[in-house]
Amino acid sequence: MEAALYCVATPIGNLGDITERAVSVLRSVDVIYAEDTRVTRKLLTHLGIQKSLHSLHQHNEAARVEAIFSAITAGQSIALVSDAGTPLISDPGYYLVGALVSQGINVIPVPGVSALITALSAAGLPTDRFAFEGFLSAKGSTRRKAMEALKSATSTLVFYESSHRIKDFLIDLQEIFGAQREIVIARELTKLYEHFYRGSVSDLLTQLEGDENMRKGEFVVMVAGVGKTGEESEQTALDTARLLEILVDELPVKQAATIAAKLTGQAKNSLYRQAMEIKEKEDG
Ligand code: SAM
Repeated sequence: MEAALYCVATPIGNLGDITERAVSVLRSVDVIYAEDTRVTRKLLTHLGIQKSLHSLHQHNEAARVEAIFSAITAGQSIALVSDAGTPLISDPGYYLVGALVSQGINVIPVPGVSALITALSAAGLPTDRFAFEGFLSAKGSTRRKAMEALKSATSTLVFYESSHRIKDFLIDLQEIFGAQREIVIARELTKLYEHFYRGSVSDLLTQLEGDENMRKGEFVVMVAGVGKTGEESEQTALDTARLLEILVDELPVKQAATIAAKLTGQAKNSLYRQAMEIKEKEDG
């Protein structure tokens, strides 16, 4: 096993979602650092793996860096896992990885599940552009300020929220984003009571207030960007293609892409590629 830090993703509910490579890495490394050793011990027991486990959480992360650096420099392989999903994604590890990378230590990702991608993959909201905002503050005024700064975003917004704050989160969302903004709440992903709730903020808030079960579990809340329902998004793609056709007829491809990027706010690289395709088609 190569001496390195392996950032290993673990399931967010369904244990079948661990990858073969993750199992093999967890079996082979010298030491595993875990956000909560009790949670990871259960996973390892399920996998039939016995391994030395140390804790690494937000309160001791900085203090662990030196020991992990020395161990890897001495040739050891170390895995980092969090309680669920991908380490560093709203979980500990950023400080450690940053410190190791800056000292030239090899950090190897072992990818797998993350709640945000799992949620987006079945939500039905546009995924061409999205912004992951993680947990907003538990403090109401700070949370509302963050929402104010996001309410005009045109990309899909992805938030994490816990059961004891989901109602307040939706109340603030309704006040700031408006009652009619389209949202999707993904609850208990990959677990027995997995459910996607789709509708306007006010519809889902009313539903949540009347359904105690809907307030239980873990949540990913996805908010459609301004003017970005699924249908509108398709319409935008059509409009962009038509705009590029017109521009490519009149201008060199590079210039057509630059002007289209300015008019639509979309990425120039992607528009350049589309413009090239149109030009090649037209040239036969
Ligand atoms: N590292 C994890 C990842 O890659 O998704 C996220 C860890 S963060 C501490 C935990 C939050 O992720 C939960 O409060 C919830 O918002 C979201 N989450 C994790 N598992 C989930 C699940 N099974 N269903 C819905 N949301 C989940």
